[in-house]
Amino acid sequence: MARVAFVGLGTMGCPMAGHLARAGHEVVVFNRTPAKAEAWVAEYGGRTAATPAAAAEGSEAVFTCVGNDDDLRQVTLGDAGVVAAMAPGALYVDHTTVSATIARELAAARDDLLVLDAPVSGGQAGAEKGALTVMCGGTPEAFAAAEPLLAAYARRSGLMGPAGSGQLTKMVNQIAIAGVVEGLAEAVNFALAAGLDAGAVFGVLGQGAAQSWQMDNRAATMAKGEYDFGFAVDWMRKDLGLVLDEARQLGIALPGTALIDQFYGDVQGMGGQRQDTSALLRRFRR
Ligand code: NAP
Repeated sequence: MARVAFVGLGTMGCPMAGHLARAGHEVVVFNRTPAKAEAWVAEYGGRTAATPAAAAEGSEAVFTCVGNDDDLRQVTLGDAGVVAAMAPGALYVDHTTVSATIARELAAARDDLLVLDAPVSGGQAGAEKGALTVMCGGTPEAFAAAEPLLAAYARRSGLMGPAGSGQLTKMVNQIAIAGVVEGLAEAVNFALAAGLDAGAVFGVLGQGAAQSWQMDNRAATMAKGEYDFGFAVDWMRKDLGLVLDEARQLGIALPGTALIDQFYGDVQGMGGQRQDTSALLRRFRR
């Protein structure tokens, strides 16, 4: 069992760190809002640290799961960040969804660490059930060191290539999800406008070629106007911003994704910032 540090006990980080503790690892946690770290320790044991650096000192592995590039820069390379505090040879795994640029920067920050960019898919429910998909970028040595630890909360983890490849894979995921959710929003709106029973419609369609995770898990709740299922519109806009920046650098067009990004902007304008991504339907049914 390892001594590990976990920085960022939000919707995702809190249960992920909990799974590491339940798997028997000795976990030291840091959270910007200390009350959340104290509540975590009350539930799972372990101990809190006053700064990210203090959590990282003496840890064999350090995990971060914060918000965006700026947040990640602060807890890694900023004052009292984890990077300078880590012991030579230790493993650093970042689960935040950020740019491939900062992922590569962190991988290059020190040459005596094992570093993985490792964004996740599966949402709050996946984190709580320990059934996340983890997309990794880094060296085979870093992935081999991380895999037994990731097993505490991953249903599937894979090495996608060198540093940054985990984040690029997450971008592929978000492009695919955006299109599916917009399609489903239009489908639900059509079904309701046509006077069909949405439960019956999606119960049948879920057995056919239009089936998707989003259809199975969100069509019924969308039809009821319920949008309180974790992955927030604000996060999706952040992710689509990363996707569109990367596409510009690659010199490729993502016309559908760019349009859906604007649709999510509309939902933010309706006050839906913290609603989940299926709130795209609100553009049609307020
Ligand atoms: P969240 O609930 O908002 O939690 C964010 C965490 O990061 C909190 O612990 C927060 O501390 C901390 N944090 C943010 N900025 C910080 C800073 N500058 N310095 C120190 N700590 C900071 O977010 P989440 O839903 O767990 O998402 C975390 C990451 O996972 C995001 O990149 C998101 O895109 C990605 N993700 C989320 C989901 C999902 O379904 N939620 C799914 C896949 C991927 P405080 O408690 O002090 O605010």
